[in-house]
Amino acid sequence: SPIPDYLKQVLEQIRDQDGGAPADYIETLAKADTSRLAVALAMVDGQVYSAGDDSVEFSIQSISKAFVYAIAIEDAGLDAVLAKIGVEPSGDAFNKLSLERGSNRPMNPMINAGAITAHSLVIGPNATAEKRTERILSVLSRLAGRQLSVDEEVYQAELRDADRNMGIGYMLKAAGIIACDPREAVTGYIRQCSINVNVRDLAMMSATLCNAGIHPVTGESIIPQTSVRQVLSVMTTCGMYDAAGSWVSRIGIPAKSGVAGAIIGALPGQVGLATFSPRLDERGNSVRGVKICERLSSDMGLHMMDVS
Ligand code: GLU
Repeated sequence: SPIPDYLKQVLEQIRDQDGGAPADYIETLAKADTSRLAVALAMVDGQVYSAGDDSVEFSIQSISKAFVYAIAIEDAGLDAVLAKIGVEPSGDAFNKLSLERGSNRPMNPMINAGAITAHSLVIGPNATAEKRTERILSVLSRLAGRQLSVDEEVYQAELRDADRNMGIGYMLKAAGIIACDPREAVTGYIRQCSINVNVRDLAMMSATLCNAGIHPVTGESIIPQTSVRQVLSVMTTCGMYDAAGSWVSRIGIPAKSGVAGAIIGALPGQVGLATFSPRLDERGNSVRGVKICERLSSDMGLHMMDVS
């Protein structure tokens, strides 16, 4: 297959793009090796192609938000989730302490307020952070097709620096949005963000979204179709922090990025893709990751608004 050579070529062509900087709010991310660069494609028939540092692991961070939203819908039901978390892009920074005017809900599940709420809806209000992360780790592992684990160093570092997320948790509790102890919701959310993955894991997780929630290799139905539609819709409008609009017009693929420097893209019925490169632009998206996705979208005609 010519695809692996093509992927290598794409990486070489964008390798010298050196703009941006790794996230620096915790040391583990600040000291990330910025030369790391990887891409993976997973087809809905189960084929996976990758190039570059495709076995290097990094914390999933905000990309977990998309999948935990799906788990919250499964555990609490879509109506209960919609009653607590909106679906409007916020245009604000992901970690802003803000709620939607009138409804008092977090604007969407891709900003921290919405993601912490989604985490709190996993299993139910009386579950512990440990039980919730156990469930999340199990679903994410099934999606990746191998057992994943938590990066304890990232988890501890995030926990030491959790003032803003704790603030969001208490705001949500005061507004009647989360029912559990805010500390349980926030520590669980932080643990969910600290799960380690590589680009091949992410591409496979994404391909499951592209394949109506059915894992392309194992054939297991992991996410119901109605949740998949909801998740991909929210990724389209809110997945790329405050650059969602320019992303959807330039690249045209439902996507989600995380502060460790990964991006997933999910084109329904076709392909799940994932990139990794730690340096971020001013909006928090991987500089080289965005470039790779732009190349793949244009070379392979992946823009969802194009007629193929
Ligand atoms: N753990 C990070 C936070 O909540 C995740 C941020 C991200 O990937 O956007 O602050």
